[in-house]
Amino acid sequence: MNIILFGAPGAGKGTQAKRLVEGRGLVQLSTGDMLRAAIDAGTELGLRAKDIMDRGDLVSDDIILGMIAERMDSPECANGVILDGFPRTVAQADGLGQMLADRDWALDHVIEIKVDEAALFARIETRAAETGGTRSDDNAETLKKRLAVYHENTAPLLPYYEAKGLMRTVDGMQSIDEVGQAIDSILG
Ligand code: ADP
Repeated sequence: MNIILFGAPGAGKGTQAKRLVEGRGLVQLSTGDMLRAAIDAGTELGLRAKDIMDRGDLVSDDIILGMIAERMDSPECANGVILDGFPRTVAQADGLGQMLADRDWALDHVIEIKVDEAALFARIETRAAETGGTRSDDNAETLKKRLAVYHENTAPLLPYYEAKGLMRTVDGMQSIDEVGQAIDSILG
């Protein structure tokens, strides 16, 4: 089973992805986590990505698609993947479609976790406090930019996947467990 978890920054995609990894043995592919790992490892990609991420902009589609393609071919992904934070642009969604078709894999569900914008600011503030500032993009200023980028580049994926009949929305204002149950009932 291959799933996209979709939603604005702070909507809870990572939290729910981890729950699905534990509950269903799927592999989480988070492009944000991959980029942060590259930054921590001090690779050339990491060095290039850091400024872009700190500004709240998007890393280029080519880099992102390359990272995902590399991971998809690892044997651990054979049972299926949860895509978290990817695709974020129509070009990435097209690239993903091609990658899946090349491997004869289906995309089973796209689940949007929907959260009020005011709540996103509060959540990001809480995350910044809890993680002691380890994510340099978790501040009100960068979040504003990330939300603008989300509306401009990523929100068009809602009608994109609706047209394919794959889009389902869960209310992300509920508790973590309730959101998890709503996702479980979609996945069956
Ligand atoms: P969040 O969902 O909380 O905004 P992520 O960890 O998914 O955070 O992403 C953090 C940053 O990493 C983004 O603001 C962007 O700069 C970069 N990034 C992550 N995934 C992608 C992607 N698919 N395409 C382009 N940039 C990405």
